[in-house]
Amino acid sequence: MRLAIAAILLGILSSVSHAATIIHAGRLIDGRGGPVQTEVSLVIDEGRITRIAKGYVQPQERDRLIKLVDKTVLPGLIDMHTHLMSQHSKDAYTERFFMDQADYALRSTVYARATLTAGFTTVRELGDNGVNSVALRKAITNGWTPGPRIFTAGKSLATTGGHADPTNSLRGDYRRDPSPVDGVINGADDARKAVRQRYKDGADLIKLTATGGVLSLAASGQNPQFTDEELHAVVSAARDYNMTVAVHAHGTEGIKRAILAGVDSIEHGTFMTDETIALMKEKGTWWVPTMMAGEWVAEKAKEPGYFPEIVRPKAAEIGPVIRATFARAYKAGVKIAFGTDSGVSPHGQNAREFELMVEGGMPPAEAIQTATLNAAKLLKIDDRLGTLEEKKLADVVAVEGNPLTDIKAMKNVVFVMKEGVVYKSP
Ligand SMILES: [Zn+2]
Repeated sequence: MRLAIAAILLGILSSVSHAATIIHAGRLIDGRGGPVQTEVSLVIDEGRITRIAKGYVQPQERDRLIKLVDKTVLPGLIDMHTHLMSQHSKDAYTERFFMDQADYALRSTVYARATLTAGFTTVRELGDNGVNSVALRKAITNGWTPGPRIFTAGKSLATTGGHADPTNSLRGDYRRDPSPVDGVINGADDARKAVRQRYKDGADLIKLTATGGVLSLAASGQNPQFTDEELHAVVSAARDYNMTVAVHAHGTEGIKRAILAGVDSIEHGTFMTDETIALMKEKGTWWVPTMMAGEWVAEKAKEPGYFPEIVRPKAAEIGPVIRATFARAYKAGVKIAFGTDSGVSPHGQNAREFELMVEGGMPPAEAIQTATLNAAKLLKIDDRLGTLEEKKLADVVAVEGNPLTDIKAMKNVVFVMKEGVVYKSP
């Protein structure tokens, strides 16, 4: 008798926990490349999509119904290039002398929320000042603070004086000689040690800066900064730990060396030539264009006194080039994944990149796919994210209007669900 009562109670409890969420989607872009579907239901249980059905499925007594009948529903968006620990401003070069690690970590929760509510349920975090993004990832995973699912590189790797050397241009007594622990390497042994240090720190992948960059306090934005030997050492060590390698590169020689070393993605890729484009296609290297960052630095370079004098000419020269490169590389058929470099431009405006892609000749449906299925493939998570399909995680967003006829709609995300939990609702 007692056993029977217990069984009944257990039955009630489990039926409570199995109350499903049903979304009625007026229009659905599932991310698999087919046409827009209309009047579709998504049934979600325990964070996963359990059923996708034509027509509006009526909820059972305990089910929750979310009506998005006048919206377009899409997979949660994925940004492959963010910096949640910073947001550029005139003060960006001096704040590090006044901010503690705790300040960075707490401020990043604001940027994480802005990113999530803009529809980006997953990001690849490509470089911070240490391990703060690992702490943010933990806080989000544990539900301490809302934010996107994070895959982080921790500290970016550089060579001495390179784009991610944190001591560039400082006065003599601050201009010390950083080590592989700080992410600065010279030679293959250092390269391997720096990769292993990132693994120890809890990073998910490796980011390195193969050429100069725009915002660092150094003269060239284009020179190659890693030798072939160093690049090969990073890639082979990363493979030992099942890590991918993302490479910041503007100049042609650095891009070429990185592709030949077998890295997974080229970030920015500003001065790609027809030769490097052909090499990327041959090696299957992904490209993450980050046109927003180019646009932003080119705009700010016009403002006298905004950038330090060592940065301004680089911003003016490199920033505008990326849009023409995009048009060329897209036509040539390079694999493209969506990334914004947000943290250069303000967090939460990520969807501007879609507009730039469409202006560069990419059809809206393909632009959306760069931030869903393509990005999931580059992260190697396309078994569980990147499309809306049965058994996949319920990362679901919705926008007003139809982004396939007006890509600007992507800037107006009105509904955000991550793994079945609603973070924004119309
Ligand atoms: Zn970046």
